[in-house]
Amino acid sequence: ESTTRVVVLGSTGSIGRSALDVIGAGGPARLQAHGLSAHTNWRRLADQALSASPRFVAMTGEGPVAEARQALRGSGVEVLSGRDGVLRMVQDESTDRVLAAIVGAAGLEGAWAALEAGKTVALANKETLVVAGPLVMDLARRRNARLLPVDSEHSAIFQALQAGERREVKRVILTSSGGPFRGFTRARLREVTPEMALKHPTWSMGPKISIDSATLMNKALEIIEARWLFDLEPDQIEVVIHPESTIHSMVEFVDGSVLAQLSPPDMRLPIQYALTYPDRHPCPGPRLDLTRPSALNFEPPDRETFPALDLAYEVMKRGGTAGAALNAANEVAVGRFLDGEIGFLDIPRACRMALDYHEFDPRPTLDRLWKVDAKARLEVQRWTP
Ligand code: NDP
Ligand code: MG
Repeated sequence: ESTTRVVVLGSTGSIGRSALDVIGAGGPARLQAHGLSAHTNWRRLADQALSASPRFVAMTGEGPVAEARQALRGSGVEVLSGRDGVLRMVQDESTDRVLAAIVGAAGLEGAWAALEAGKTVALANKETLVVAGPLVMDLARRRNARLLPVDSEHSAIFQALQAGERREVKRVILTSSGGPFRGFTRARLREVTPEMALKHPTWSMGPKISIDSATLMNKALEIIEARWLFDLEPDQIEVVIHPESTIHSMVEFVDGSVLAQLSPPDMRLPIQYALTYPDRHPCPGPRLDLTRPSALNFEPPDRETFPALDLAYEVMKRGGTAGAALNAANEVAVGRFLDGEIGFLDIPRACRMALDYHEFDPRPTLDRLWKVDAKARLEVQRWTP
């Protein structure tokens, strides 16, 4: 068996660090870090490079490229910078797979470049498909490049789908923990602080996706992600609240059989599966122990209190630029909430506003999508609730 050389875009983040843990575990998976990228955290990037020995790293932010160079002097690791650095790493002929783990629409560029280069992309960055789903899937088809899900729900669906033919799928059921505010009323949500929202009951994640999980916007983005990734109609995608986060999602086939994937809430398994697919190998991290007393609970989502879910179905119905507007508005609103400038309930409100007022285009080019993204950001930045 041969080694799989992996470029990790966003290696300093939550997904990136879990990925390096998987890669560094060694063993029969035979994964090798080939390139890493960071935006601001040059110290962590340098530490990662010293232990994982990639061929190169890239600092994408304006930040301290010189410091990273200094820290890696004599290590044999080449230090690149900016988007050109990312391009070089993903296009490199020795690169086998690219893990897209940058947060937000900023992750689209690297994922796009990797697909364009015909590389297999392990996609953590769901925003890529929310912003530009049809264009990205079309690019993957044209370049004969594989897009493998990292998001735990989509990995679960991807795994369950292997039990049947595509035409035999009735629907998919995405599970959601419900986030830290499951059962809250809108009155209680009004009082929510960033500290409260950053504490997720079952998962440990970066700040943006933690807030998205609290508003259920994360599930909304995942609904849209599932639509494009698995070529589903909107009415084939359902959400159920499952507080234990043990079942990561399910597929229902036409005969009524429902297949689920279970594992502890830990991203290392879906990351590794996307890096080694179609093979499976032992994986670092916890394992389920179902011999202990435990329960799996399910309940319907509260769509009145958490309006994000309805936004997802509306975005899918409209298509075109709607996903780009929703995503950009959400990114800025989450940032402003974390900065204490707007309230928790203002996040879906800002998204609603951006959706209603953006200049809709049913068949946008990538360029057009970036313009919609920029405009929605500006509007939500200026918005006073
Ligand atoms: P983090 O915030 O922990 O990490 C973000 C990474 O992206 C960091 O490496 C950061 O670099 C880099 N980055 C930030 N902004 C930019 C930018 N403008 N350009 C280039 N790089 C940038 O995020 P997560 O790891 O939590 O999430 C990453 C992606 O994976 C998101 O799309 C998220 O939705 C998705 N995901 C995450 C899961 C999780 O468990 N965390 C689960 C499923 C999906 P630096 O640190 O140097 O600033
Ligand atoms: Mg997920």
